[in-house]
Amino acid sequence: MTARTTKGDFALMFAGAAAAIREQHTLLSELDCASGDGDHGATMVRTVDRLEKAFAPGGPEDLKTCFEQAGWSVLGVDGGASSSLLGLFIGGMADAPECGTTVEASDLAAIFEAGLAAVRKQTKAEPGDKTMMDALVPAIAALRAAADAGKSAIEALHDAAGAARAGAEATRNLTARYGRARFLGDKTRGHIDPGAASTGLLFEGFHKGLGKSKGESGNA
Ligand code: ADP
Ligand code: MG
Repeated sequence: MTARTTKGDFALMFAGAAAAIREQHTLLSELDCASGDGDHGATMVRTVDRLEKAFAPGGPEDLKTCFEQAGWSVLGVDGGASSSLLGLFIGGMADAPECGTTVEASDLAAIFEAGLAAVRKQTKAEPGDKTMMDALVPAIAALRAAADAGKSAIEALHDAAGAARAGAEATRNLTARYGRARFLGDKTRGHIDPGAASTGLLFEGFHKGLGKSKGESGNA
């Protein structure tokens, strides 16, 4: 067991995310029926398929190249708003100077923050606007707080998953201001935003996936 996070660990994180999305894709499409066009589950399944492939054994070992290739691959998913934003998110992680062949637990926050910065070049949505940002922004803030507190990678992802889940749940009572859902306005109240829900699942999957490599002891 190593305290550093390797390509193999990211592969497990993305495999965990893929499992979580595949298990809940019907729910994601149902949520998107209430606020969009009903394709979000299918788009997310295609997205996680590509993430998994980009981190499969045999490819490049350095994380920068893996994130770049994974980002381009996700951008190539013909899936509308969410796959474009998630492609930028993953590809943007490669911009973090911390991105080497392995990374310290404390570097995870910087890598995810670089991904978020890339998303923010594309959308002005912030928490409160009822989009994936309601889950993504608090999740990454939780990663930063965990890094600053000296927590392990697995502990940091545990905190991030909790924050993403809470952020997604809180979208239920919001009015959509971005994406297709904005045309429905107040009619989206009472429904969780599909992109926030899937982001919550991604982080839950990251945590669960890394747990398979590091164990749940919190010592990783
Ligand atoms: P589409 O809306 O193109 O069909 P999806 O259904 O896959 O794409 O994804 C919809 C989700 O994408 C929304 O629930 C929301 O979270 C996110 N989203 C859409 N537009 C934006 C935006 N401009 N900024 C941030 N997130 C957005
Ligand atoms: Mg849709």
